[in-house]
Amino acid sequence: MFLAHLPAGYLLTKEIQRRIHETKYLWIGLVASVLPDIDLLYFYFVDHRQTLHHEYWTHLPIFWLTLWAFVTIGNLHFKSRGVSTIAQIFFLNVLLHLVLDTFAGGISWLYPLSSHSFFFVTVPATHAFWMFSFITHWSFLVELAITVWAIVAFVKSKKV
Ligand SMILES: [Zn+2]
Repeated sequence: MFLAHLPAGYLLTKEIQRRIHETKYLWIGLVASVLPDIDLLYFYFVDHRQTLHHEYWTHLPIFWLTLWAFVTIGNLHFKSRGVSTIAQIFFLNVLLHLVLDTFAGGISWLYPLSSHSFFFVTVPATHAFWMFSFITHWSFLVELAITVWAIVAFVKSKKV
């Protein structure tokens, strides 16, 4: 999934904000919603496309869950509502990214117990350029639906 991460992050962050009565940190949710894909820089410029970027640590749930646990444990002492709120928004958006990548990309949810890559649908390589294969597959409609949903929510939020 490549188009819907940011719109989905917007929707999730707005929902978290609504539930915890918070109006700040939308930008943290948006950054976190695309953050795991920062590994594309390494994929293209360092690794020269030798390893699927979903296999890097930035796409491993265990890494982010461990980090979230450390932040939560560290915050037990300080009891900072701000840290707790930021951590929730940040880590839930990162995990949403991984859930969305599971749809058609594949994520190793059980790593390090297993390296099996979980995914819901396989997008066959029907075009030489991988992006065209994704855009012409039915699963792209899901991305479009999420994007339209986010645009509608954004427009509605500006009217209130
Ligand atoms: Zn990703």
